[in-house]
Amino acid sequence: MSDLINILPDSVANQIAAGEVVDRPASAVKELLENAMDAGATQIDLVVKDAGRTLLQVVDNGCGMSDTDARLCFERHATSKIHRADDLFAIHTMGFRGEALASIAAIAQVELRTKLSDAELGTEVRIEGSKVVSQQPTACTNGTSIAVKNLFFNVPARRNFLKKDSVELSHIEEVFRRITLIHYDIGFTFTSNGKLLYDLKAGSMLQRIAQTYGESYRQRLFNMEEQTDIVRIKGFVGKPEYARRTRGEQYLFVNGRFIKHPALSAAVEKAYADMIPEHTFPPYFIGLQVDPSRIDINIHPTKTEVKFIDDHALFAILRSAVKKAIGQFTLATELEFNTPAELNFAPAPKGYIPEEPKIKYNPEYNPFERPRPKQRTLTEMFEQPLERIPVAPPPMDEPVKRVSGNECLQFQERYIVTTLSSGIAVIDQHRAHERILYDRLMNGEASGPHSQTLLFPINCQFSAADAELFSELSSDLKEFGFGIEAVGQRSFVVTATPPDMNENELQPFFDQLLTDYKGATMQKFNNRSQSLCASLARQLAIRYGQVLTQEEMQQMIADLFASPMADTDPSGHRIITIIHPETLLK
Ligand code: ADP
Ligand code: MG
Repeated sequence: MSDLINILPDSVANQIAAGEVVDRPASAVKELLENAMDAGATQIDLVVKDAGRTLLQVVDNGCGMSDTDARLCFERHATSKIHRADDLFAIHTMGFRGEALASIAAIAQVELRTKLSDAELGTEVRIEGSKVVSQQPTACTNGTSIAVKNLFFNVPARRNFLKKDSVELSHIEEVFRRITLIHYDIGFTFTSNGKLLYDLKAGSMLQRIAQTYGESYRQRLFNMEEQTDIVRIKGFVGKPEYARRTRGEQYLFVNGRFIKHPALSAAVEKAYADMIPEHTFPPYFIGLQVDPSRIDINIHPTKTEVKFIDDHALFAILRSAVKKAIGQFTLATELEFNTPAELNFAPAPKGYIPEEPKIKYNPEYNPFERPRPKQRTLTEMFEQPLERIPVAPPPMDEPVKRVSGNECLQFQERYIVTTLSSGIAVIDQHRAHERILYDRLMNGEASGPHSQTLLFPINCQFSAADAELFSELSSDLKEFGFGIEAVGQRSFVVTATPPDMNENELQPFFDQLLTDYKGATMQKFNNRSQSLCASLARQLAIRYGQVLTQEEMQQMIADLFASPMADTDPSGHRIITIIHPETLLK
C-alpha cells in the first residue's frame, strides 16, 4: 500500500483560498484599499478598466515595503500586523490574516511597485498565478502601487461567473463608498475606463457625504454625536422627510469598518418611529468607536458581521442618540423625547376581546403635501368604538357635495371605504391613485404643455452606474414633462418637471425611480415606456398616511371607476375588495 495523502502545493492552496477571499473584482478592490489605509496612506487612487476585469490598480503614498517584504507579502499568512495571538484582540488595522495578496496573486497577473520613504530606489515584483516572474529595482515614488491584471485569468469558471460590467462596477462603487465615507480624512480618487468618477478630498464627514452624493445632502441630514463609556458615536442621520422606500444610504461603521448589524440598524429606525411613513427608511451614516476588545469582528475577510459584548446597552444608546439628533430639530420629537421612550403595554387579560379598529374621517387634505410625521395621542391609542367617533363638521365656507348614501370614509389613512350596490367597497388609496396616474401617463395626458419650468434649475447627482441609466432614460422622461440636461459625468440639471412636483424632492424621486425601474421586470411591462410610466405613477401616487377629504375621495373613486382596469394597479395588485351582503349576513 502506498501513502495517499499529499500536501497541496501552495499555488493550489492559494487558489482555493482565493475563491473565498476574492469572489469578484470588488472584493479585490476592498483588500487593496484596506492595505493602503493600513500602510498609513493619506492619498489613495483607484483605477479600474472594464469593471476590474482587465485592470484594477491601487496607488498609495503609504509606508511602502522593503525589497524582501515586497516578495514576502505574496506568501500565505504573511502579515506585518499580527505577531502574537494576543494581538488578535486589539486589532486596529483592517487586515491581519495575511491572505489577501497571496490570494489575489494566485488568480491574476500582479505588478507591485513599492518604495520605503528613506530608500533611494524602490522595487518591482511581477507575479503570475503565484509564481514570481521577476523582481528588480525600480525608480518610483514613495508608497505602493499594485496593479492586478486579468483577474481570474486561470480560473475560467470564476471569470465566466462575473456579471456584466455595469453590475460589477456598481459593486466596486459600493465597496469604495463603504470605505471612503468613513475614512474622510484620506483623499481618494476613483477612475473607471479613463473617466474620473470620484475625486474626494480629505475633509469632514459631511464634506465626504456631500462629495459622494451631492451638495443637496447637506440639507438632508442632522448631525449626531454622543459619548459614553462604552461607545463614541459620530455621524449624520436623515431628516424624516428624506426617508425612502428602499434601504439605500444606510451606513453603519465600527472602528472605521463598514458593518451590517440588523439589531443596530433597527435601533436607528426605531428612533424614527411614527415620524416617517410605514415601510420607508431614513438615510444614515453613523460611525461607532468602541474598544476593540469589546467586539468580535468575524475574521472572515468578506463578512461584515460583528458581535458586541455590550449590545443591549449599545442599542439603547444608539437609539436615544438618534432620537436626540432628530429631536433637537423637530419640536414634536423633543416632546416625545422627554417622555418615556416606550409605552409598555401589559399583556391582555384572558378572555379579552380586542376592540374593532377605528374608522376615521379626516377633514384636512392637501394632496401634494408629503405625509408629515405624526404624534399619536393617548386618546388615539385607546380608540373609541366606531359609533362614538364624532364626524368633524364641514368647514362653514365650503359647501360639501354629498352623494346621498354614498359617503366615503377613510380607514387607517390607507383605505377608502364606500358603498356600492353590490356591497361595501374597500379601496386601497395608494394603488387606486397609482392606477389613475398610470392610465393618464400612458395616454400621454401628462406630456407636452403639462410641464412647469423651474425658476431655479435643480442639480441632481448619481452614482456612475445610475448616471448611465439615467441618461438613457432622460429622453423618455422628457416626454413626461421633465427638462433634463447632463452636466459632467454624474450630474444633471433639471429645468422643468411635470406639474405638481415638489422640486426639493427631485433627487430622492429620481433615485427611487431608478431603483423601481431596475427592479421592474420586463415580463410584466412589455416595453420601456410602460415600465417608466409604472415607476412614475408609483412615485407620484399619494402615500399611505395621507389624509383625504370627502371630495378627494369622491374624485378618486370617480377617476378609478373610469379606468378600464380599475381592479388592479399597474403591477397587478388588487385595488378593491368588496364585502358582499351575504358575507355580512353570515
Ligand atoms: P494583511 O493585510 O492581512 O496583513 P495582506 O495579504 O493584505 O495581509 O498583506 C500582506 C502584507 O503586505 C501586509 O501585512 C503588509 O505588511 C504588506 N502590504 C500589503 N499592502 C501594502 C501596502 N499598500 N503598503 C505597504 N505594505 C503593504
Ligand atoms: Mg490586507
